[in-house]
Amino acid sequence: MTQPERRVALEQIANEVRACTRCRLHQQRARAVPGEGNPNTEVVFVGEAPGFNEDREGRPFVGRAGALLVRLLGALGWRREDVFITNVVKCRPPENRDPAADEIAACAPFLQRQLAVLDPALVVTLGRFSMASFMPGVRISQAHGTMGPVDPATGAANALAFAMYHPAAALRATEIERASFEDMARVPDALIEARRRREPHPAPAPVEPPPLPASEPVPSQSASRGAAAADALIRTPAEADAPADQLTLF
Ligand code: SF4
Repeated sequence: MTQPERRVALEQIANEVRACTRCRLHQQRARAVPGEGNPNTEVVFVGEAPGFNEDREGRPFVGRAGALLVRLLGALGWRREDVFITNVVKCRPPENRDPAADEIAACAPFLQRQLAVLDPALVVTLGRFSMASFMPGVRISQAHGTMGPVDPATGAANALAFAMYHPAAALRATEIERASFEDMARVPDALIEARRRREPHPAPAPVEPPPLPASEPVPSQSASRGAAAADALIRTPAEADAPADQLTLF
């Protein structure tokens, strides 16, 4: 899928999110928050749910937690425009309560479709609800800073998940903030590993046929012998660093 095709597909999903009434969270939202970022990125950050500021602006991670996320990204030399940022549920739960299981299930197809369009190499989960969608059965206190393969049923066909605390949790505890910076420092290595796993495997070396008797004609060598591996386009953050007018903020 080309970048313009991704942009169109993401805008289509965003429009459906803004009109969605699939679960009770639509009743009290001011604005739905589909997500935003670079449609050509390799890295998707998935949080839990919009909060007060996000609900007012219709954009993810724009409050204090968002400011910390920007600082965490900045520690890598990345900007929020270099990645894609979204949430497990796209509408704010009242009083910032935890999203309910049926609300997460109702909203899951939107995240699934976003991931299918973006085809990220790395999904960075922010908080336990996001982590549970990609690394089920683990505790965030033990799993943060680690990674694991993503089930393609999530929409990310070939990705690794990397677990981090939610920035809101980091705002409440100094030790979690420190751990978050340490975890973020591991993200580039996780991306390199995710890219390595996505590289096409080279074709096995052809088996040399036994020599033929001199009286028989020698067949020409196959043009496919030693064929080069497919020319894969790796969408690096640097390549995703498109001019501002090419960035898509949904
Ligand atoms: Fe629809 Fe998701 Fe909002 Fe529920 S949270 S109303 S499923 S967009």
